[in-house]
Amino acid sequence: MGWENFDPVRVGKQLEDLALIGKTEEGGTTRLAFTPADIQAKEYVKKLMLEAGMVTYYDPVGNLIGVYEGLNPEMPGIIMGSHLDTVPNGGKYDGIAGVLVAVEIVRTFFLSGHRFKPNITVVAFADEEGVRFGGSLFGSRAMTGLLSPEWLERTDEQGIKLKKAMTDCGFNPANFEQAKIDPAKFKAYFELHIEQGRILEKADCPIGLVLGISAPSQLWATIRGRADHAGATPMGERKDALAAAAELILAVEKICTPKEGQVTVGTVGSISVQPNALNVIPGEVRMSLDIRDIDINLRNQAIEGIKESAQEIALRRGIDISLEETLAIEPVILDQNLINALEQVCQKIGLTYKKLISGAGHDAMLMAKIIPSAMIFVRCRDGISHSPDEFAQIEDLYLGAKLLYHTIGSLL
Ligand SMILES: [Zn+2]
Repeated sequence: MGWENFDPVRVGKQLEDLALIGKTEEGGTTRLAFTPADIQAKEYVKKLMLEAGMVTYYDPVGNLIGVYEGLNPEMPGIIMGSHLDTVPNGGKYDGIAGVLVAVEIVRTFFLSGHRFKPNITVVAFADEEGVRFGGSLFGSRAMTGLLSPEWLERTDEQGIKLKKAMTDCGFNPANFEQAKIDPAKFKAYFELHIEQGRILEKADCPIGLVLGISAPSQLWATIRGRADHAGATPMGERKDALAAAAELILAVEKICTPKEGQVTVGTVGSISVQPNALNVIPGEVRMSLDIRDIDINLRNQAIEGIKESAQEIALRRGIDISLEETLAIEPVILDQNLINALEQVCQKIGLTYKKLISGAGHDAMLMAKIIPSAMIFVRCRDGISHSPDEFAQIEDLYLGAKLLYHTIGSLL
């Protein structure tokens, strides 16, 4: 069928090549969105797309798109991809593996002389990580029609507006609405990505089929007690905001420890104390809460539980606790038909796989809102990601690619 034309060594070399674009002294790669390194990486991949028989273009927001044209482009086709931008000092696989594997799959079809009726499209999304302008999934947001014009006004640390950075790279932020694709033209979106967790490694399994992507609700708790003298205030008369915060943190941990079969997680990752002095009872604490689940009802239940605990702690201690939700992203269930198709191919080609959920966000989250979408996870070492130590075996990427290749073949 042509699979023998897939060249994992070539993909391995491309991963190494891309890691050099924006290479850091610490051994990682920094390719923030709309920087010269980001564009250089896209141009590198554009060349690969051309070699794979695709026509390429950038949409107005800087998504790099390659189209392997079909005999009947009006038929709904397949779109697959991921991202090439990285976090500061990031790894060489996160996002990049998904783009390179997608291009190599198309090249395999091309070399084997396979032309399908519909198009196969590969996309390298712009600004997935969202580090520079403080908001992730920019390219897929525009592509799915979910981008608001205010987003373009965001600034980086130097005060450069996103729209200015885009224009400087030759893109056209004013036409961002034209980046929206017509979902009727696509029957499926696929994204291959390293797992960024340890589930597959622990299960001794190379491939994961992603059932859904859990999403965060982020809240800020403000705990107001009273700042008193640490020596002159007896224990019974204190309104210690930090002691109350400690109770609340443990309540978050307890409430978010999931029951059998559930995947709720809760984290207090940021905390500030006022006045933060050795000999003053803490008067005020602000802390973040990040609560995630794949099931929005379970996530809401956890948040309700935390609110009840907060109330109880506040009442008992005679202090004030307020919780404000600042972000609530809807979790995403991926397409069951596509998961079934992937599973059937796994069984057919004798691939060991495990079904799991993604704790991290991906472009597939937004694509799933308009096109049936699926994700393939590839095992990575120690679950490490966003780090120079990020590593996935090329053999595992090869298996993920093989699964994707045959699944696409079965759908077209
Ligand atoms: Zn990623």
